[in-house]
Amino acid sequence: MALAIYPGSFDPVTLGHLDIIFRSSKVFDKVIVAVSGESRSKNFWFSEIERCDFITRCIHHMKNVEVRAFEGLITDWAAAAGASVLVRGLRAVSDFEYELKMASMNRRLNPEIETVFMMTRTKYSFLSSSMVKEIASYDGQVEKFVPAKILDDIKKKQEERKNSDLS
Ligand code: ADP
Repeated sequence: MALAIYPGSFDPVTLGHLDIIFRSSKVFDKVIVAVSGESRSKNFWFSEIERCDFITRCIHHMKNVEVRAFEGLITDWAAAAGASVLVRGLRAVSDFEYELKMASMNRRLNPEIETVFMMTRTKYSFLSSSMVKEIASYDGQVEKFVPAKILDDIKKKQEERKNSDLS
């Protein structure tokens, strides 16, 4: 059985991520979306639980997809889960250098695990979680970029951040 892991921050999940998840679910027998934990040196808007929950709400129709939080090295985590493939999405050339570094390092760490890249759909090629947060922080409209099921959560978080002067 070909089990693939799609790791990322998903802070929050976007339509671009969901497109990669859906397309991966057609290629592999099973896909685990691995949501990185709080320990990574990133300034997340949403907790690990929230980020997992957002994705879970959107994947009901994909029966071979599951969401889990992960900590530590993704190669170790993937091997422990019995996976042999890491899926990553590629947008612009700017993604390439970082993804090449990551894939090369992950291969050094565990040569049994292959990184497979999936090209973004053109309509999502400019779309990133950080862009969504940037737009939301200026009270802009993000409904074209994220699943409708999480819109209220983004608005709520933006209000909280505004009120606590974090944004
Ligand atoms: P990370 O912090 O690990 O880069 P992200 O949540 O930003 O986590 O992205 C996870 C993966 O999804 C990465 O491989 C990224 O390139 C890919 N990705 C993000 N946005 C898009 C998009 N709009 N289209 C295709 N792939 C994307």
